Amino acid sequence: MVYTRSPDLRSLVIGVDECAPTLDGRHLPYVNLDNAASTPAMRPVLDAVERLLPFYSGVHRGTGYKARLSTDAYEQARSIVGRFVGADAERDAVVFTKNTTEAVNRLARSLRADDDAVVLTTLLEHHSNDLPWRARARARGGPATIHVGARRDGTLDLDHLDRLLAEHAGRVALLAVSGASNVTGVVQPVHLLARKVHAAGGRLLVDAAQLAAHRVIDMRPHHDPGHLDFVALSAHKMYAPFGTGALIGDREAFAAEPDHQGGGTIRAVTVDDVSWDDLPQREEAGSPNVLGAVAMAAAALTLAEIGLDRIADHEARLTGYAMARLAEVPGVAVHGPTQPGAARAKVGVVPFSVEGIDHALVAAVLGYEHAVGVRNGCFCAQPYIAHLLGADPGDESDRLERTRRGDTSGMPGLVRISFGCYNDLADVDRALEAVGRVAAGDIAGVYRLADDGTFRPRGYVERGRSILSEAVT
Ligand code: PMP
Repeated sequence: MVYTRSPDLRSLVIGVDECAPTLDGRHLPYVNLDNAASTPAMRPVLDAVERLLPFYSGVHRGTGYKARLSTDAYEQARSIVGRFVGADAERDAVVFTKNTTEAVNRLARSLRADDDAVVLTTLLEHHSNDLPWRARARARGGPATIHVGARRDGTLDLDHLDRLLAEHAGRVALLAVSGASNVTGVVQPVHLLARKVHAAGGRLLVDAAQLAAHRVIDMRPHHDPGHLDFVALSAHKMYAPFGTGALIGDREAFAAEPDHQGGGTIRAVTVDDVSWDDLPQREEAGSPNVLGAVAMAAAALTLAEIGLDRIADHEARLTGYAMARLAEVPGVAVHGPTQPGAARAKVGVVPFSVEGIDHALVAAVLGYEHAVGVRNGCFCAQPYIAHLLGADPGDESDRLERTRRGDTSGMPGLVRISFGCYNDLADVDRALEAVGRVAAGDIAGVYRLADDGTFRPRGYVERGRSILSEAVT
């Protein structure tokens, strides 16, 4: 195989050439294939943070130079993030949050809708785009959140969606769907879904946590039937790991009273009354994460400059190659859609299992013996994993009961490799070689299951660096 490195993309990312210690005492170049969890930082992101740091200050209302400069940077970051997803500068609010989870919770608590309105989510969702809607339904005594089903291969069951929309037409407040799945990488036809839910009188939320670093997001004008009403994002999945996310969407859809209340949300307060501020301030209680917002905006600018179509092409090549080669490894099964063309139709997330070897053990051996970082388990999407693995509903409720008694053993799961724009075919080959060896039973260490559900090699003493002690000596 001829390796095509992408030096320009790799050189944009910090830490791609770091090494990691392995069980046999070597240090190997670290291959990070866990980008669906968090992406590393990009250099222009760090540069922007470093440019702001000398002037860093609390924002809004300060009259000093640093406060003015930080406020300006923060508000510019807001505009940039809005433009990145094609938001309407007048009609949409860009609310900075901690991450996607907070963004979805914020919307679930603030979205104006009748108490008996139906919220549809899907079986493909991350818990963060499912549980907040269940909680809303419980709190309002309305109908439970309804899950649109998935087909056998893990794609969304559009016929089921059509049936649910027809059944609840006029009462659907929202369809909450992931733009791309963090388990299978399945990408939704978000504009088609928008047209469908708008025709039934509802709105669309796109959980874009897994989409933002891989595909162009365009909310489109409000009058367009394919308009995306809300988008939720996490900066740490788009090369800006500085604790910020955003909820972007129609100002009119937010309740008059914010969920989080306190400093920064009001125009005036008396002992017994409050006049609330406009959006986005009303939904940003407390001192905001200025550096995080600036980092997120720098990441958005960098991704746009690289070109998300170029990134999508590059990642599709890696994904297609990884899927094809993994499927050739005896004992390995690739899950989710695998038909020809599947790699192009999804983002670079490849879930797999190795026959007869626990997913947690596979991930541990890849990490400790081969310096390949992957993720395993249910990826915060247990109903979807249960569906993909064809779990028996009875077994699922038994398992739930066992966890209530504190027994979390035997959790189902998969192993996941996920690509970032800086990965290359050499990274995939390193992972494939390692998976091939694990699947053939070539495991050097003796592993014990720790209380947190991960496997650790017996006798291994971490020889890595201690970041904080280095920082303070
Ligand atoms: N939705 C999806 C599809 C995700 O992949 C994730 C993170 N894995 C989230 C939501 C939650 O993101 P965060 O942890 O940044 O809140």
